[in-house]
Amino acid sequence: MKKFVLILLFLPGIITSAQTDTLIVPLRAIDSTIVQDVRYATGNNFTKQVLYPSAKVFLRKIAAENLAQANDFLKNNYNLRIKIFDGFRPLFVQKIMWQILPDDRYVADPAKGSRHNRGAAVDVTLIDAEGNELDMGTPYDDFTERASFASKDVSEKAYANRKLLRETMIQFGFDPMETEWWHFDFKDWNKFGILDVN
Ligand SMILES: [Zn+2]
Repeated sequence: MKKFVLILLFLPGIITSAQTDTLIVPLRAIDSTIVQDVRYATGNNFTKQVLYPSAKVFLRKIAAENLAQANDFLKNNYNLRIKIFDGFRPLFVQKIMWQILPDDRYVADPAKGSRHNRGAAVDVTLIDAEGNELDMGTPYDDFTERASFASKDVSEKAYANRKLLRETMIQFGFDPMETEWWHFDFKDWNKFGILDVN
């Protein structure tokens, strides 16, 4: 597992010949005010396993910059901020997830790869000025129908919070996913290849 961290550290050096906006960067270097809560680096996730050796979020630079703009917009207009649960996910982690939950409504088939494997997807929610998560009707990684954006089975307040998150993310270049209120793909995800660092 140490190898994973080392390769991530050296990755930007390896691909400097590529366009700089395709670099994978630590999100904290772009916006340190986005709160990071990486459940896959703890046992507190649907697999009940520690899947990541590091609790740092990495993203393609251009996606991180757009997310930072969304965060600024939320801070300035609503006194809210973004909390991020996941960004870049190595392919070997995708394979472990698929073994545990082989249902492509909620986990991408590693044969196709997830947009997370390209460093171009984020799992996010909104937090208030005190850091409390806003009510979204379900927790993150709730693999039920109620996690669908348009579910009628959540409160009006929760729906309004989902809508604010979704509309803000769309405004700053991310495409929503209907079955998971927390998941967004950066619009140019298909310009980035799948990466594995195992
Ligand atoms: Zn996701």
